[in-house]
Amino acid sequence: MINYGNQHIDKADINSVKKVLNSNWLTQGPTVQKFEKKLKQFIGAKYSLVLNSGTAALHVACMCLNVKKNDIIIASPITFVSSVNSALFLGATPVFVDIDPKNYCIDLNKLEKKILELRSIGKKVKAAIITDYAGHVSDWKKIKFLSNKYNFFTINDNCHSLGSKYYKDKCYAVKFADIVTHSFHPVKVITTGEGGSLSTNNYNIYSKAKIFRTHGIIKNKQLNQKYGNWYYEMRELGFNYRMSDINAALGISQLNKINKFILKRREIANFYNKSFNDKLIFKIPYVERYCYHSYHLYPLQINFENLKINKKTFFKKLKKEGINLQVHYIPIHFQKYYKKNYNFSKTNLSVSENYYGNTVSLPIFYGLKKKQCYLIVKKIKRFCK
Ligand SMILES: *Cc1c(COP(=O)(O)O)cnc(C)c1O
Repeated sequence: MINYGNQHIDKADINSVKKVLNSNWLTQGPTVQKFEKKLKQFIGAKYSLVLNSGTAALHVACMCLNVKKNDIIIASPITFVSSVNSALFLGATPVFVDIDPKNYCIDLNKLEKKILELRSIGKKVKAAIITDYAGHVSDWKKIKFLSNKYNFFTINDNCHSLGSKYYKDKCYAVKFADIVTHSFHPVKVITTGEGGSLSTNNYNIYSKAKIFRTHGIIKNKQLNQKYGNWYYEMRELGFNYRMSDINAALGISQLNKINKFILKRREIANFYNKSFNDKLIFKIPYVERYCYHSYHLYPLQINFENLKINKKTFFKKLKKEGINLQVHYIPIHFQKYYKKNYNFSKTNLSVSENYYGNTVSLPIFYGLKKKQCYLIVKKIKRFCK
């Protein structure tokens, strides 16, 4: 069965993990520090902290920005649920803004309109959680301009876009957003099994995040000297969001391979782009001129309304052929929990909803063979006649 994403593990990964297993340090320790150093160099951040999931990173990010009950946070509904859940953990109210019909990231004109609309009824936006969707970068100069003009924080949920570039700059994310988060789940470009990270150029945010990661506890030499070697202080209500050295060892050896992983993804995307050229049926992902796309996802839009086949049957037929497609994402405001607890009936999110109706995620990952790509194209085209 060909899935939409899959990890690639080689000998170097196995040896890297083995080394930690043979050492006497398994939990957060020297290897975590090494991974953090490598990661922050790769993304050009002053500070990077790794945690045990991307969701943990998002949660801690919201805590560092002091998101609290009834604060408004803005996001697009076309992202993974945990991107927005992370603010709901703290009692925030989600406000959704539609996606841009071309690049599928949040629509920046609609974002500004929404901020003004909220202002007119006396409400202020605390933060925007912005997903650089599928590996496509949002127009961060505009976002920065808006965040300065209307005074809200920005979190770049960069889970899809590690290694993407904005105006040729791979280190764009921390330059524009207050906090940048990543996930190292096996479907992402590099993996640690489970894992995530939080990066920032802001020392205050970094030092808060570090405390929230470990139960809100501070332990250091000064405290030990003053009170004794057993002493530590719990200053905040924190969590155990630590990554183990075992996972970090995998992260280090995976990060060594990220460039070849991305090049392969781009090669596959290129092949799909050329293959699905019938504009009456297919719409391939659009790439803005400023963007170097890392193709965490390859969302293909299929005009099911003009076809004899519907999405459900299409999925079934492809699965029979050994091709397991996915859909990214079910709009978050369609989710039961969100419907039950919030009211989105007055929000127009038609672009997101139409996108959801037509989109399928094609398999794209390092280990995908040329032969498999041909098969995928052939079968999809056959069922979309
Ligand atoms: C994967 C992902 C997450 C969650 O990451 P986990 O490591 O699975 O917790 C959050 N947001 C987006 C956009 C993601 O793709």
